[in-house]
Amino acid sequence: LPVLAIVGRPNVGKSALVNRILGRREAVVEDVPGVTRDRVAYKSEWAGRRFTVVDTGGWEPDAKGINASVAAQAEVAVDLADAVLFVVDINVGATATDEHVVRMLRASKRPVILVANKSDDAVKDTQAAELWSLGLGEPWPVSAIHGRGVADVLDEVMKLLPAVSAVAKQEIGGPRRVAILGRPNVGKSSLLNKAAGEERVVVDPMAGTTRDPVDENIELAGKIWTFVDTAGIRKRVHLQHGADFYASLRTAAALEKAEVAVVVLDVTEPISTQDLRIVELVLESGRALVLAFNKWDLLDDERRRYLEREIEQDLAHVAWAPRVNISARTGRHLEKLVPALETALNSWDMRIPTGKFNALLAELTAEHPHPVRGGKQPRILFGTQAATRPPTFVLFTTGFLDPGYRRFIQRRLREVYGFEGTPIIVNMRVRE
Ligand code: GDP
Repeated sequence: LPVLAIVGRPNVGKSALVNRILGRREAVVEDVPGVTRDRVAYKSEWAGRRFTVVDTGGWEPDAKGINASVAAQAEVAVDLADAVLFVVDINVGATATDEHVVRMLRASKRPVILVANKSDDAVKDTQAAELWSLGLGEPWPVSAIHGRGVADVLDEVMKLLPAVSAVAKQEIGGPRRVAILGRPNVGKSSLLNKAAGEERVVVDPMAGTTRDPVDENIELAGKIWTFVDTAGIRKRVHLQHGADFYASLRTAAALEKAEVAVVVLDVTEPISTQDLRIVELVLESGRALVLAFNKWDLLDDERRRYLEREIEQDLAHVAWAPRVNISARTGRHLEKLVPALETALNSWDMRIPTGKFNALLAELTAEHPHPVRGGKQPRILFGTQAATRPPTFVLFTTGFLDPGYRRFIQRRLREVYGFEGTPIIVNMRVRE
């Protein structure tokens, strides 16, 4: 989906604006297991078009950190968004920080809409005129809290967002899109450099960038692949505070542009919460997943035993992801990366015919019926795979199924069809 990023200083009302844009939809909890954390990217819809809102305001720095943090947010927005809402507090006007960020935004040539928030009445609206001085064109006065003006801004956003998102372009025959993710120093750049070798072909930098291309096309095993946000992989950011948030933002935004993620882990160090957070972001995004265990050349027998235990404990929920044990330094097993990517993408694209799915449902409910709850036994009337990328199944039932029972159905789907490398989603529609 095309990405709209919301950027601005702390306290200008970015979160209120995000909530307003999401409307009630935010309350519709997506039926994905384990998704209950502070999120960065949200699906939204306006005038029948779907897009992703990236909220850069999840971390609000103290006074000293403001410039660095806002600049870092803007940088992510510029690299990875298709359009930017730049938010200013109408009561405060444009500050030096705003002007600095605006220079970055303008240099990027990304479409930017200037939003003057906290304009609670028509009299206030007239103050917005002062913001012409930022050079971003017409300021749009809104009140995110009261909803004034937001519809007009969204109409304008629809004019500026590209009709075809990067991922949709792939559907019409472009290269498949890969995000290399992982915490700092696990070896992402090394992997990218080694994989690319001499073969790096930088074709077709993303439209609108005057700086380094954000994505790179690289030929691997005879095929072109697009590695998204390679600019982000190479960049070394030194933020005193908020580095984790910046990294999450970058990761979530890169995932929006990718179809499959390679999460790189460093085998010489214990699997950390930061590693798991990245895996979580991939699951939230619904992208295909490959796990790359890097620095295998440094692994000794003792560490190896620990590693295996850690994988069993911490990565059991993604046991379906293909694993490659590599060394970006020596080149060990790098040739296994492409087959793993292909397996994951094939699963991500896979569609099970409705007849076969219902035959499987009939078989598994006969063999293992849903337990009786409060004197009732929910029945599955019918099921169908409603979507691919990732495979998403809908069950029409006479009552709520236990989470355990839905996991059982997922497990059986995997036993029968594999789905190696892709999350699968099983939703319910209860018919009373
Ligand atoms: P990034 O921050 O994830 O992009 O990590 P880098 O690619 O910059 O790598 C961090 C450090 O780990 C560098 O000193 C690399 O030379 C080293 N490194 C990366 N991959 C390997 C590997 O497979 N084996 C060994 N021994 N060192 C590696």
